[in-house]
Amino acid sequence: MTRSHRHILLIFMDGIGLGDDNPDCNPFAAAEYPTLSALAGSQRWLKSSQRVNTTRSLFIPTDPRMGVPGKPQSASGQAAIITGRNIPALIGEHYGPRPNQAIRALLAEDNFFLRAVRAGKRAALIEGYPPRRHEEIASGKALRASYQEALHQAGLPMFGEREFYSGDALAVDWTGEALRTYLGYTDTPLYSPYEAGQKMVEIAQRYDFAMFSHWLTDMIGHRGTMEEGVQLLTLFDAVMAGALDAWDDEHGLMIITSDHGNMEDLSHGKHTENDVATVIVGLHRETCAADIRTLADIAPAMARFLTV
Ligand SMILES: [Zn+2]
Repeated sequence: MTRSHRHILLIFMDGIGLGDDNPDCNPFAAAEYPTLSALAGSQRWLKSSQRVNTTRSLFIPTDPRMGVPGKPQSASGQAAIITGRNIPALIGEHYGPRPNQAIRALLAEDNFFLRAVRAGKRAALIEGYPPRRHEEIASGKALRASYQEALHQAGLPMFGEREFYSGDALAVDWTGEALRTYLGYTDTPLYSPYEAGQKMVEIAQRYDFAMFSHWLTDMIGHRGTMEEGVQLLTLFDAVMAGALDAWDDEHGLMIITSDHGNMEDLSHGKHTENDVATVIVGLHRETCAADIRTLADIAPAMARFLTV
């Protein structure tokens, strides 16, 4: 199969910022993550980390505050990422975790899933959700996250159980371990972290625009331990090693970013006002993404790459 088309994989990590070099409260400072460090030009992902262009990646400390006072929140931050607009400024506050009416209206007006679909591109959110989550959303008991709302507004389905089994979607923890530990599945696919990274890329390459959203990081930021934080980043590091080995730099743009800081400071259970890391992998990273400064600059970079 030839993969001459351009494709984007947006890996969204909820609630990871660039924090202090303090191993007592920052899991990014408490262990080594060789793949993540390589993506940042041999730097750890910390407040002191500088913008750098490595042989394969651009590492950019990115502003999630966007000129609006207060702690950045998930709904407005995610909406800024997926719309390319300064959502906190437009609604006058940082808001979350789920989008309010004002944010939902802005997502309905324009978002990157919608733009991709209108341009005739294939787009998907490539992590799946168990039946209970689908039911909660359908019954109105739970609201979609901003990026799920964006997907919905574009008329695209949220994946579920069927796609776990068929290998067309990954679980939120990449490996599928969580489906067994927390949801009682016994026969869903299990991947090693490295295999899961390769699998994520394999699924992403079926689309022009694929997004993978990981939100356990924000949960650990709110109420997790240092050990859990280090364990999760070790997993992410191994997933990224697999993803990078499978990635096609010539035709692809892989982006890692976050909506706000949280897990980089486990001394409290709240979000932080730190910058977040944006990493862009691909040959076209400088022509498309060199001017990223805030969360609102990511969608325009993706639009330049896909010409949508
Ligand atoms: Zn949060």
